Amino acid sequence: MPRPNKLSGPYWEGAKEHELRVVSCSACGHKFLPAADRCPKCLSKDLEWVKVSGRGKVWSWVVFHQRYFAAFEADIPYNVAYVELDEGPRLMTNLVDCAPSDIRCDMAVEVVFDDVTAEISLPKFKPAEHPSRKPS
Ligand code: ZN
Repeated sequence: MPRPNKLSGPYWEGAKEHELRVVSCSACGHKFLPAADRCPKCLSKDLEWVKVSGRGKVWSWVVFHQRYFAAFEADIPYNVAYVELDEGPRLMTNLVDCAPSDIRCDMAVEVVFDDVTAEISLPKFKPAEHPSRKPS
C-alpha cells in the first residue's frame, strides 16, 4: 500500500478525489512524475500540481505468471505497465478490463481509480473508449 509523504501527498490526495495530478514546472512547463522538489529538466523549485486528462498509451508492460510477491498471489496472472500520459509523464500502474494477451504497446488507455481503502485510491488504466489519438 502506498505511504503518501510530503512530496507525494498531493498525488494521493488527487487520486482519492479521482483526479490524476502531475507536477508542472512553472519555469519551463515540464510535467513530471514521480514528484520531486526540483524540476528534473531545469532545476527550478517553482512547481505546482496540475490535473491531467487521465488519457495516455501503454509504453511498456510485463505479465507476472509466477509468484514473486505473496500479496499478489491471488492476482496471477497480473500485469504491471508503464503508461505514458498525453501530457508526457510516464507512470507505473496496472491495466484493468483487458486480458493479458490483448495488451499492446501504444494502445490507448484512460485512468480509472481503484478505491482500495477509505484513504487510498490507486490510479489504474483501462482501454480507452474514445482514444484521444491513434497508436503510432
Ligand atoms: Zn523546469
